[in-house]
Amino acid sequence: MTSNQDLQQLKLAGHWINGLAVAGQSDRFGEVFCPAEGKVSGRVSLANVDEVASAVASAKAAFPAWAATPPLRRARVMFRFRQIVEDNIDTLAHLIATEHGKVLADAVGEIQRGLEVVEFATGIPSLLKSEMTENVGTGVDSYSLRQPLGVVAGVTPFNFPAMVPLWMFPVALASGNCFVLKPSERVPGASLLLAQWLKQAGLPDGVFNVVQGDKVAVDALLDHPDVQALSFVGSTPIARYIYQRGTANGKRVQALGGAKNHMVVMPDADLDQAADALMGAAYGAAGERCMAISVVVPVGAATADALREKLVARLAKLRVSYSLDSQAEMGPLISAPHRDKVRGYIDSGVAEGADLVVDGRGLHVAGHEAGFFLGGSLFDHVTPSMKIYREEIFGPVLAITRAPDYATALNLVNAHEFGNGAAIFTRDGATARHFASHVQIGMVGVNVPIPVPMAFHSFGGWKASLFGDHHMHGPEGVRFYTRLKTITERWPDNVAAGAEFVMPTMK
Ligand code: NAD
Repeated sequence: MTSNQDLQQLKLAGHWINGLAVAGQSDRFGEVFCPAEGKVSGRVSLANVDEVASAVASAKAAFPAWAATPPLRRARVMFRFRQIVEDNIDTLAHLIATEHGKVLADAVGEIQRGLEVVEFATGIPSLLKSEMTENVGTGVDSYSLRQPLGVVAGVTPFNFPAMVPLWMFPVALASGNCFVLKPSERVPGASLLLAQWLKQAGLPDGVFNVVQGDKVAVDALLDHPDVQALSFVGSTPIARYIYQRGTANGKRVQALGGAKNHMVVMPDADLDQAADALMGAAYGAAGERCMAISVVVPVGAATADALREKLVARLAKLRVSYSLDSQAEMGPLISAPHRDKVRGYIDSGVAEGADLVVDGRGLHVAGHEAGFFLGGSLFDHVTPSMKIYREEIFGPVLAITRAPDYATALNLVNAHEFGNGAAIFTRDGATARHFASHVQIGMVGVNVPIPVPMAFHSFGGWKASLFGDHHMHGPEGVRFYTRLKTITERWPDNVAAGAEFVMPTMK
């Protein structure tokens, strides 16, 4: 508990509206933690409906001029913004490491992946080039335009405080939209830095706004008639809700949800390579990644036994520590309740009869005893009926689910509720090709454990991992943030040729 006096001294994250930092007006606040210290490091204002309306109004007022700004000039803002972020990458990474808990090098990595979307957005003049056909009929030409939607909004999760907002707003802004971002209330700092840097890069006031908040702010965005589209990334129950409420209100919605990513390891795979890949993919960022591998499916008992042995040896050396410790490979979880929830999943796995090979529950990090740490855990003999197999744990827990053959492994992946990512490790081209073609998953890796598409491709899952029709960034991002208009025109010599009453056909 924090005393009243302490509260007054804590840094308070407010909003960013119309090019200015704005203190919250509501009397509701959230606590921001330093997860490695296990204590409150700041507070965040939670916006009310009026504050959301004010951000939307500022975006709406800025839209006509921004939409009319030539794409080349919008791209130049992105070029300058990219440089500013790169020049200040250490400041942003430090903020992410202390608010979120991931280790510093991983924070730099997420910013880098986000910057790649900014680089993609600098190509907007080419991306918006349209189709044109001369003479669709005699003397008649036809061409198409992609025009911005207006005010669009983004609602983002805690696990990538910079990268996930950067999946959205560079493409939206470069396409000519104005943006209202509602970041996760657990990591409010990164978005405010990005907002300042956009202004420094020359973005006109009102084009990009940040409202801090919780469900109240999200519902206000979902119900606001001036918000044309909403991009969401977060857990599946909330993604489903956002999609239903947003589309019921006539908005365009892309809502990315949770995951349970499998990695199939064939008997012919290089098992050392597979084990190394699994360590990063399962335990990096303490498993709090939507593309983390949480289930490994070794094919055949010999593969499973050998892989298990290699994982146990590597887990014994996993360095879990304070996020700013340069030796740390894995930091703490985001909060005490989330750490306890993950611990509860480990308890439930044991209760359901899975074999807990490595138990991360007892870990203590010297000097940081109050931090929200858990060590890496490994289960073997996990079956599809168990809760730890069915549900997303979002923590450093890897399950081995054994399969006797490739067909069983593929069926397992395809039968799961989630469809974000999956990987196969093999030396056999035919098996890899069959997997890539038949797996019911949005993003597939062949000997690549975390197949996150580059910025110029698009990111998104299938099944309960995505609600909506468009993936994020890349060409799909441009399509999501623009609408198509097709113009058919002619310039007749004699405009008074008389009315035509039959269905127009091209002659
Ligand atoms: P979350 O769903 O709890 O929160 C996401 C956002 O929704 C936050 O901004 C939050 O304020 C808001 N929100 C929460 N409850 C709400 C409600 N009842 N009504 C309206 N808005 C609400 O997710 P999280 O815990 O911040 O993030 C972790 C989840 O995000 C995991 O499930 C992870 O798999 C998922 N994720 C998915 C992807 C992807 O690309 N598919 C990427 C990153 C994270």
